[in-house]
Amino acid sequence: MARDSREFQALLRVHEGLPRQGPGSAEATELALSLLPPLRRQAKIYDLGCGPGLATIVLAKKLQRKIIAVDLTPEFIEQTSTNAEEKGLSHLIEPRHGDMIELDDQPESIDLIWSEGAIYCVGFDNALHTWRPLLHSSGIVACTELSWLTSTPSSKALEFWQAAYPAMRSVKENILRAEQLGYARINHFTLPDSCWWDEYYSPLLHNTERLASESKDDPVLARAVANARAEISLFHECSREYGYVFYLLQKSDITIERAQIDDSQDIARVLRTSFSAALPFISILHTRYEDFNYVRDQLFPTNQIFVARDAGCNVIGYIAFNDERINHLYIDPAATRQGTGTRLLNIAKLHNCKLRLWTFQKNENAQRFYQARGFYPIKETDGSGNEEHEPDILYEWKADLYR
Ligand code: SAH
Repeated sequence: MARDSREFQALLRVHEGLPRQGPGSAEATELALSLLPPLRRQAKIYDLGCGPGLATIVLAKKLQRKIIAVDLTPEFIEQTSTNAEEKGLSHLIEPRHGDMIELDDQPESIDLIWSEGAIYCVGFDNALHTWRPLLHSSGIVACTELSWLTSTPSSKALEFWQAAYPAMRSVKENILRAEQLGYARINHFTLPDSCWWDEYYSPLLHNTERLASESKDDPVLARAVANARAEISLFHECSREYGYVFYLLQKSDITIERAQIDDSQDIARVLRTSFSAALPFISILHTRYEDFNYVRDQLFPTNQIFVARDAGCNVIGYIAFNDERINHLYIDPAATRQGTGTRLLNIAKLHNCKLRLWTFQKNENAQRFYQARGFYPIKETDGSGNEEHEPDILYEWKADLYR
């Protein structure tokens, strides 16, 4: 929408004077901050699409480092300046009028990009893709994005958001997309309803009431008021189905994506090398050719498979799961200890509420790995049921009820 159009001006009026221009709270910003690794003393930090700057203030106060606050709307940059002065934080906040997708920083120079309720303006994928080269090798993006919380939304919510924000995706889709674009998920959480009401929808509702009589003679304003009311009333009814999710992402050279059938050869190679490195005491029962056929003809048709690739695009690990069961999770022995197993496991967790898997009793490393990630042993066998006749253990993981 053009910034000087009547529609945009009407939108600004409906949102006039709000503490925030989207859902959020100081507590949510602080929680997100507490989940991040420590920053360098000289860290370069942006708050992009800062609006009136409430998150900027929390960042400056908590981090005690300079925050460059960027927004395309000059009114918000002025408000950010005023808010910073009132809080005595002008020395730490540098308000800048500009476009969040056109930063002119040197490559690998930014430590942290913060962006609450704004990334949708330029597109989640577009923003992550554009910012990545500017981030320091372990740089971080912390952003909130409207996301589906259910795979079966009501037709009411679906209809509204398909018109208002057709690019909206589920949490697992957004995380997978980020992983594919070269970011590891550090954490994510859904903002509570209070983040929508306290500093956003309640004052917004108040504005729509205040503007009711004026909008009688102004159809453009009337439409903006009606849209805001429709959005608030939908949230009242369907707030369990969608929400703002805080995504904490760290730049990574390793990417994760859905496997393609052409990856069969590489997957078979990782299966073989990883299996023999982890379990040298177990004899190999199949030839390399049999491994390849097995992956292509049996694993692919029956499993969801995700591969991890290094910067050179080589497959360094994969996970295969179906029917709430992890059938394979293997990492190339030359590429372990980089968190890839955990990232692949987290993809499986995002796709399931419950997971089971078998490990051999002799594979103590695997047991430690799974136990540290919420899996519990539920059954032991003497191995008569598996191909190798090795005693094994069945593990189970269940998602938190309130994730
Ligand atoms: N972070 C703030 C504002 C969110 S509203 C908060 O949580 O309250 C989205 C903000 O993004 C608006 O202030 C809007 O002016 C700004 N914006 C939209 N497109 C932008 C762009 N391309 N570059 C910079 N800011 C942009």
